[in-house]
Amino acid sequence: MYHKLNVGIALMISLILILSIASLYKKLDLENSKAETVWYEYQGVELLAILENTLVVEEEDEISQTITEDLPDYTKMYPDLYTVYQMPKQMDLGKKIAYLTFDDGPSDNTFDILDILQEKDVPATFFILGSAITDEGEACLRRMANEGHTIGIHTYSHMCNEIYCSIERYLDDFNTVYQQIYEITGRRVSIYRFPWGSNNGYSKEIKEALMDEMERRGFICYDWNVSANDSVGKPTAYSILHNIEKDLEQHNYPIILMHDSVINDLTARVLPDIIEMIREKGYEFDTLDHREPYQFPW
Ligand SMILES: [Zn+2]
Repeated sequence: MYHKLNVGIALMISLILILSIASLYKKLDLENSKAETVWYEYQGVELLAILENTLVVEEEDEISQTITEDLPDYTKMYPDLYTVYQMPKQMDLGKKIAYLTFDDGPSDNTFDILDILQEKDVPATFFILGSAITDEGEACLRRMANEGHTIGIHTYSHMCNEIYCSIERYLDDFNTVYQQIYEITGRRVSIYRFPWGSNNGYSKEIKEALMDEMERRGFICYDWNVSANDSVGKPTAYSILHNIEKDLEQHNYPIILMHDSVINDLTARVLPDIIEMIREKGYEFDTLDHREPYQFPW
């Protein structure tokens, strides 16, 4: 700032000097050509512009300093809760790519799901619940990391009255599972999914500020555009497969929501058929962090 002030003063002195010399020159030589007078005026105007710009930059610096000071207190919480999200390159528009996603795991079904994915050579994405991580669950997470799947965060508790009552409480919950996954796998998670999606009724009051804060820390939110509806009502193998099939082809890059919880063993059982059906329709598979971010447009 002092440096800029000095530059400003130096410019002002130069301007005064040039203008004085110009007027002196004019007095001494009244026959001075009009072109030369214009040149001196031009120099003066240019210097004034530079001086003005310097002062504007200085003012902007002060404004951004004030904004930094005014950031809410929750921005100072959990100084380790930062990550780097690598924005995917432009997706190859000639391809159709499906993204299988499993929420709420790990569970008793995770090993089966991982076995099927391995057998079919399909990468997938798991949005993990910290509270569901048992000793076996830790082994599941290590397998996910080692077998080319992507791990995302789905909160620690999944309890709406705990995670959505304030940004501070959400960060507290999120930080717990973020640190768990880092300790187990050595990976820093960069994607997350809200329980009930980003437009759920519980988080309305804080949603916008919360997503801004998460993005400021490097985390990107992903919803889905195809749902297996395997965690509502009484799903059957047919309903799970049909729910995916009916919406799949509306999208070249479908994000398929399924669940990996103890009550969803049917999903694991029907998974080979789901993969075959999607392949037959000409889709390849990839992990969600390779797809451009998607949040519900409503
Ligand atoms: Zn969930």
